[in-house]
Amino acid sequence: MSLIFGSHPTVTPNKNAVLIKHVRAFVFGDDKQEKESGGGADCHKQSAGHWIVDSDIANPMSVYEQYRASRTSWGIDAMGSVVVEVELSNGMIGVGISIGGDAACYIIEKHLARFVEGQDPSNVELIWDQCWRSTINYGRKGIAIQALSALDLAIWDALGHLRGLPVYALLGGKTKERMPVYATTARPDFAKSMGFHGAKFPLPFGPAQGQEGMRNNIEMVKKWREAVGEDYPLMIDCYMSLTVPYAIELARRCEPYDVKWIEETLPPDEYEGYARIKEKVCSTLLTTGEHEYTRWGFRMLLEKKCCDVLQPDITWCGGMTEARRIVALASAYDIPIIPHGSSVYSYHLQICFPSCPIAEFLVMSPKADKIVSYFGNLFKDEPLPKDGYVELTDKPGFGVELNREELNLRRPYPRD
Ligand SMILES: [Mg+2]
Repeated sequence: MSLIFGSHPTVTPNKNAVLIKHVRAFVFGDDKQEKESGGGADCHKQSAGHWIVDSDIANPMSVYEQYRASRTSWGIDAMGSVVVEVELSNGMIGVGISIGGDAACYIIEKHLARFVEGQDPSNVELIWDQCWRSTINYGRKGIAIQALSALDLAIWDALGHLRGLPVYALLGGKTKERMPVYATTARPDFAKSMGFHGAKFPLPFGPAQGQEGMRNNIEMVKKWREAVGEDYPLMIDCYMSLTVPYAIELARRCEPYDVKWIEETLPPDEYEGYARIKEKVCSTLLTTGEHEYTRWGFRMLLEKKCCDVLQPDITWCGGMTEARRIVALASAYDIPIIPHGSSVYSYHLQICFPSCPIAEFLVMSPKADKIVSYFGNLFKDEPLPKDGYVELTDKPGFGVELNREELNLRRPYPRD
């Protein structure tokens, strides 16, 4: 039975309106420059010795001994940043970013641009839907949706500039004046002294390192609990490295140390495994979602009762258009959203919705001893946490300006 009572006439943008004129997708000039710029949109694009790549961090490749010491050895940073510019017919430019490098540029320039150029930037739903449907045969998760995310964020930024409003105002306005922030870091002790409202550290060892690895994991939890004292929120990130029995044992052995949450225990497709862990573990919250995509992926996590908190990355999950749907969907299940990273893209979303209680901030200085911009020097004016809070200005769009002069960006697939 069809519920279509008549055809839907094609949306024809008003010729007098400001329309999207060009889409351009860029990468950094070269790998060295991207690392020296602090990684850009790819937080793992860091020089040797940085805590986020060159310390013991359990991950899906930890089962292979030769790839254990450094996450760059297996290519965690292989894709690199993508920077998208959307130029309007009045000359205003919106910027969006994600990871995906040259491959994301290809998707954006060769495929998605056709749904964007000539469109009214107000039509974010239409543009998103056409990009989504047209990439289903190869997309759905991963790089195609990361490319779409960067494009979608650039459109929201351009729309903000066009209307003279910050994105949070376009989304519905603030539900809190400032955004409380917790730190993801190798040094929870420093995070506490810097004023963050909690600290999350990476689990060093995975199941392949056996009981000795488990003992060393618990020793680290104990060390950080003693360093930050009672009551300070302490969380553990497992970066998809565990198995169901290991995660359950880890949670049990963490009980004396009052861990606020254990994050991303399993690879993202293991919905059943997440649900089994959730059934068995009540002593800590369970979180996941940074490597999940779109409302359909997040619906799986919600319906199967996989976790207590969802953590979409706004620059990966489908951009702002999709992230606001994920927030709405999760709120119907009473599940809060605490996005992964995403800096300004996360702050503008979170400040609008009461079910987004706290933002993540990755401490990206190599020794985790200083607050530096999450996106390196990609933007001139990325807002940084101060005394545990981030404040957003009323500048239009996402309120940040691309550091164009210094970045030496390269456009791999120019069309004009
Ligand atoms: Mg994480």
